Amino acid sequence: MTSAGAVRVRLAPSPTGTLHIGTARTAVFNWLFAQHHGGRFLLRIEDTDRERSRPEFTANILEGLRWLGLDWDGEPVIQSQRQEAHQAAIQQLLDSGHAYRCYASEAELTAMRELQAASKQAPRYDNRHRSLSPEQQQAFIAEGREPVIRFRIDDGRSIGWNDLVRGAMRWAGADLGGDMVIARRAPADRIGDPLYNLVVVVDDAAMAISHVIRGEDHIANTAKQLLLYEALGLEPPVFAHTPLILNQAGKKLSKRDGVTSISDFQAMGYTAAALANYMTLLGWSPPEGMGERFSLEEAARVFGFERVNRAGARFDWDKLNWLNGQVLHEQGPEGLRQQLLPLWAARGWPAPGHDQAAEAQADPHWQRELCALIGPSLTLLQDGVEQAEPFFCLPPLQEAASQQLEVPGARQSLTALEGLLPEGMLEADQAQVLLTAAAKQAGVKKGVLMKSLRAVLLGSLQGPDLVATWLLLHRSGEDRRRISRGL
Ligand code: GLU
Repeated sequence: MTSAGAVRVRLAPSPTGTLHIGTARTAVFNWLFAQHHGGRFLLRIEDTDRERSRPEFTANILEGLRWLGLDWDGEPVIQSQRQEAHQAAIQQLLDSGHAYRCYASEAELTAMRELQAASKQAPRYDNRHRSLSPEQQQAFIAEGREPVIRFRIDDGRSIGWNDLVRGAMRWAGADLGGDMVIARRAPADRIGDPLYNLVVVVDDAAMAISHVIRGEDHIANTAKQLLLYEALGLEPPVFAHTPLILNQAGKKLSKRDGVTSISDFQAMGYTAAALANYMTLLGWSPPEGMGERFSLEEAARVFGFERVNRAGARFDWDKLNWLNGQVLHEQGPEGLRQQLLPLWAARGWPAPGHDQAAEAQADPHWQRELCALIGPSLTLLQDGVEQAEPFFCLPPLQEAASQQLEVPGARQSLTALEGLLPEGMLEADQAQVLLTAAAKQAGVKKGVLMKSLRAVLLGSLQGPDLVATWLLLHRSGEDRRRISRGL
């Protein structure tokens, strides 16, 4: 194992989409590992696919990582700016005989694959242009063909490495699909656009990456990349392949499963702390006694690959929701208020103006009490918008609430309560006294009045603690208005 301080890891996202949960989880493991070893966590934007890469995706990825608290060291490396280094490496491979130009046309390659399929063979390049004579090459060029550049992968090779998650790994060269394209088609006197496996090796080596931590869907790439390290005379990093994230059906989580982008989770009302915590649990088991709710810093103290599972990690919404609820409750009323303010503002709350309602709603103390009241029942931050709504706006009377007002004595008890409402402050003890007195005046059980009061205040028979609800609505002058509409 590398000594402390020498650890340099990286996240290498392709900006061809928004920050995906799989990439974010890879980022979490890289970050935890770097933190644990006092190492560095670097970022490389792999934007060599010019057609599909977009600056807005890069912005979304950086924003998502920042939001999750996964800060990286230094400026991100932009892969498309490193073309010279990539081409130099390809030239080196051509010069040393590890790479060659292949003139096979797309039509020829398709025909080759169809033949393989017909005889039930796995698709692979049959290395047909590995040893072309200079004359054969000239003939192809004269035909106007443009070659790709391929890297030789000998069938007889056996590639092994010691994976930090999966232990001893071994791949047969014969299973890597034949000689691999490392540069796209270009005129034979040029080097075309370099491709993924080649650029990753050149860049990881240039960035002195000590450990490559990425999803297990890259295992075959690792075998190919190890051959490239060898051919280029470079020292390979240590590899750790993390388990895939699976959906409920046990299949790899994909866009078809709905929410997969970090920005979608954010929009749904998940907090960064809960999501980062949850992603850590996707494949890593905390040591005994640690529980499942922890911060990234706490996880970093004990993180290691010996506790990363090999089996795929099934996405568990219930656990994520539970963690999110935990985080929201831990924040306390003021923390929750800070997070809810922008969401409330987007709905036009607190109300504009200077009347009693607007002034109460704009009062941080009133808002904190509202947060203390609704906080314990929130799972998502968005629930704090839904549950705050009847405190900011007059809610319509739901069917059950209307029915409650038809209960014998219900309206009379509300009328009695209206007559007892004080103009100034109302305290909890006093509220109880008033409820008892009004119920008595109307000759109904206190429970009937309480249920009816809830119905007119919230328009529903469900909701948080009744007296606390009433006190808040009394301060905004809304209780009188709502009680009278039920009469
Ligand atoms: N750009 C690659 C991806 O997003 C990087 C894989 C790697 O970490 O090497 O899958």
